[in-house]
Amino acid sequence: MTMQTVRDRQVTVNGRDYRFPRTPTVAVCIDGSEPGYIEAAIAAGLAPNLDRLMRTGANLRARSVIPSFTNPNNISIITGVPPAVHGISGNYFYDRAAGQEVMMNDARFLRAPTIMAAFHDAGARVAVVTAKDKLRTLLGKGLDMGSGRAIAFSSERADRVTLAENGIAEVLDVVGMRLPDVYSAELSEFVFAAGVQLLQRHRPDLMYLSTTDYVQHKAAPGSAMANSFYAMIDRYVGALDDAGAVLALTADHGMNDKHRADGSPDVIYLQDWFDERLGAGAARVILPITDPYVLHHGALGSFATVYLPQGADRAGLLDALRRISGIILALDREAACEQFELPPDRTGDIVVISAREKVLGTSAARHDLSGLTEPLRSHGGVTEQEVPMIVNRRVSVQAGRVLRNFDVFDVALNLVDQGGR
Ligand SMILES: [Zn+2]
Repeated sequence: MTMQTVRDRQVTVNGRDYRFPRTPTVAVCIDGSEPGYIEAAIAAGLAPNLDRLMRTGANLRARSVIPSFTNPNNISIITGVPPAVHGISGNYFYDRAAGQEVMMNDARFLRAPTIMAAFHDAGARVAVVTAKDKLRTLLGKGLDMGSGRAIAFSSERADRVTLAENGIAEVLDVVGMRLPDVYSAELSEFVFAAGVQLLQRHRPDLMYLSTTDYVQHKAAPGSAMANSFYAMIDRYVGALDDAGAVLALTADHGMNDKHRADGSPDVIYLQDWFDERLGAGAARVILPITDPYVLHHGALGSFATVYLPQGADRAGLLDALRRISGIILALDREAACEQFELPPDRTGDIVVISAREKVLGTSAARHDLSGLTEPLRSHGGVTEQEVPMIVNRRVSVQAGRVLRNFDVFDVALNLVDQGGR
């Protein structure tokens, strides 16, 4: 088929149609970008490009998926559907039959094709750059790296990329940066710097850039650390815009202070609570935020799911949980899966969500908080669901439509103003 027919058609994936881009189209997930960060940087005069784009393009809000954690949202964005469809509802789930807690970072747990893979199969050039390597295999699933039209790598392992595995070699030279530390602002800067180079050198039709929330976990909107991070982002946003790309920025989740006045984390320890009522270890509390990189959040977030022993009084436990100050939602699996579009087979008997200022833990003894050098900021609940949706073109959104962050490719490919493209 000729290039012209390829470019005229739509790509359908997971029940949604997407227009094949005529202009390189870049979707960016700024990890943990609570509304307010960008606005504060603009107010400080540090983000002139974002300021301009938000006035001349589109400055919208969207809702993340719950749990408002990194992986469920990144996978929702790359597939265009919620966790009920793609299966990735956290970093961990409990395999009841095997009696094991299982990490969901492996691509075999992903139940839906990605938008990237669908476009690649339709002849597009695609690129994915993520800060942490844990997301790379999920985001890059289904891409044939031998095609010469697919690139997928992480900043974290940028020193180990190969043509065979990542579709690109010598990334450190291409990007012109040293390998960043996994806990650093540079890990995210590397993603943007790589995006600018890839846009110039490879001209991908579709690109997805995903940063890490190291800075947002430490620093509130308007703080010096946050402002300098967003000033960095602004320079790359300017470069991507200058290169002529359609650019859509959103976030996987927001971020809130979760600590007491004295700076200590404000935790409800759920495993201790269940142990007291049902006996030690009878219930199993799973915190899906838990991952190999816990230093900046101590595995403390605002979402937990609980597996109960056989015969437990679920309704009675739910009633008691709802009376705990700081718990704003306690739902049974069926209600939680319906309300939040979660996969029932990877969700516990009970789902618990804490209030804005609180986090949920297992047992006090099981959380290593020594890595928390700043008062805890975290996410996971419904209070971190609102995120930005900023586009460097005008977009037409149907009146009354509540945008989700996983609509970002729909927005960038289908809803942008075609004038001048
Ligand atoms: Zn995140």
